[in-house]
Amino acid sequence: MDSISRVDQKPHAVCIPFPAQGHVNPMLKLAKLLHHKGFFITFVNTDYNHRRLLNSRGAASLDGLPRFRFETIPDGLPPSDADATQDIPSLCASTTTTCLEPFCDLLSKINSSEAPPVTCIVSDGAMSFTLKAAERFRLPEVLFWTASACGILAYTQYRDLVEKGYTPLQDMKQVTDGYLETTINWIPGMNNIRLRDIPSFIRTTDPNDVMLNFVIQESAAIPKARALILNTFAELERDAVVALSAMFPRVYTVGPLQLMTDHVLDQQIKPLSSSLWKEEVDCLNWLDTMEPESVVYVNFGSITVMTADQMTEFAWGLAKSGKPFLWIIRPDVVAGETAMLPAEFVAETEDRSMLVSWCPQEKVLKHPAVGGFLTHCGWNSTSESIVSGVPVICWPFFAEQQTNCRYSCVEWGIGMEIDNDVKRDEVEFLVRELMEGERGERMKENAVEWKRKAEEAAAIGGSSCLNLEKLIEDLLLQ
Ligand code: UDP
Repeated sequence: MDSISRVDQKPHAVCIPFPAQGHVNPMLKLAKLLHHKGFFITFVNTDYNHRRLLNSRGAASLDGLPRFRFETIPDGLPPSDADATQDIPSLCASTTTTCLEPFCDLLSKINSSEAPPVTCIVSDGAMSFTLKAAERFRLPEVLFWTASACGILAYTQYRDLVEKGYTPLQDMKQVTDGYLETTINWIPGMNNIRLRDIPSFIRTTDPNDVMLNFVIQESAAIPKARALILNTFAELERDAVVALSAMFPRVYTVGPLQLMTDHVLDQQIKPLSSSLWKEEVDCLNWLDTMEPESVVYVNFGSITVMTADQMTEFAWGLAKSGKPFLWIIRPDVVAGETAMLPAEFVAETEDRSMLVSWCPQEKVLKHPAVGGFLTHCGWNSTSESIVSGVPVICWPFFAEQQTNCRYSCVEWGIGMEIDNDVKRDEVEFLVRELMEGERGERMKENAVEWKRKAEEAAAIGGSSCLNLEKLIEDLLLQ
C-alpha cells in the first residue's frame, strides 16, 4: 500500500486485555473511547472469555458493529466448560508463556484482511509479552495498567522490596504476627505505608512465587512501551501519579473511564457490555422500591473467594444491622464449595434483602437507593463507587486491593476497613456506622466531593480529557 492511501486509512488499534473481568471492563471502555475518536478497533479476548461474553449476552450478537471487531486467541490453559473465574496465577503463567505466537498470527491475519492495517497496540500492562509482537510488527504500543496509580506505584517497588529483604517472608506466620505493620517511608509519593498496604503478592515465603515474579517482570516492562495509561484521575492520586511520572515520562491518567465514556455517542457501541456473567437486572426493580440511600450493597467482585465461616459472619452481621441489603453472591465465592447461607438467615432477612449472583454493578451503584458499599476494594469497584459518590466498607482480598483499602480509608476519607478475620459484631457495627453514624456521614460527604472532582476531570478541558488527547497523538505517531 502506498503512503497516500495509508494516510487515508483509519488508525487501527488492537486492544488486548488481561483475561479477567476487572481488566476486560476498563479495556472495553478505553476501546470505545478510541473508537469514538475515529479508530478502527480490534478487541482481542481469549477463546474462553469470548464464549462467556456471548453466553452472558443472550441473543445479542457481537458482529456487524461499525469499525469494531472482536477476535480471539487461546489462553493456553486446558479447555474448560466451567462458567467461573479462572485461576489468576495459572493465567499469568500461561499468557506469558503461550500467547505471543497466537497473538502474532492474529496480527498477520488482520493485516491480510480487508480491515485497515493495524497501526498500534493497546495492551494490558499484565500482558507485556505483546511488546515483543509490537517490535516484530514495528508498531507503537501503549500499556494500560488497570489498577490504581497507588497500587501500580507499589508494584514498581517489588524489586526493591526483595532486594531490601522485606519479601519473601521468612515464615507465613509473619502475616499475622505484626510484621506487616512495619512502616516504609522510602517509596516516593507514598508516606507511612505499611507492608500490609503493599499489594498482597509479597505475602509469600517462596522466592520463585509466580505472582511475585510476574509483578516484577511486568513492571520492568513498562519503560519499553510508548506510554503508560491509567484508569484514574490526577486529582485523586496526585502524589502517586507524580511519582510514576518521574519513573516513566509518558503517564496518562484518563479516568474514571466510566465517566469518560459518557462522551461516546455511537448507540451501537455505547451500551456494548463486557460482562462475563449474565446480569440479573431484576435487582434494579427491587432498588426502585427502596428509600433513598437506605440499602447496603454487598459485592466482592469476580475473583474473591472466602471461607464458609466468613460468609456466615457477613450474613449475620448484615442481619443484625437491621439495614436493607442487596448481596451479590457468585456461585463460586466460597472456596471449594457452592455458596450456601443459613436458612434462618434467609428467613429472617427476606423482607428487606435481595440476593443475586451477578448484577449490573455500575447501574446499582448509581441507583439513589444505595447508601453504602461493602466491597473487596477491586480498583474498578472502588472507582465505580467514587463516581457514584458512595462510601465504602473495605474487606480487601488480594493484589492491590490492600493499597486501595488504605487510600480509601486514609487518603480519600471514604472508607472503613473490616478485619480480615471478619466477625458478625464488627460487620453489624460498621454497617450501622456507614448508614447512620457520624463517620458514615463524613465519608458520604467526602465521596460526593470526589465524585464532583471526577466529573471535572472527565469533562471537556478536564485533566483526563486533555490526557486522552495526548494519548491519541502518541498513538497516531508512527
Ligand atoms: N461487576 C459487575 N457485577 C457484579 C460484580 C462485578 O458488573 O455483580 C463488575 C464491576 O462493576 C467491576 C468488575 O466487575 O467493573 C470487577 O472489577 P474489580 O476491579 O472491582 O474487581 P475484581 O473482580 O477484578 O476483583
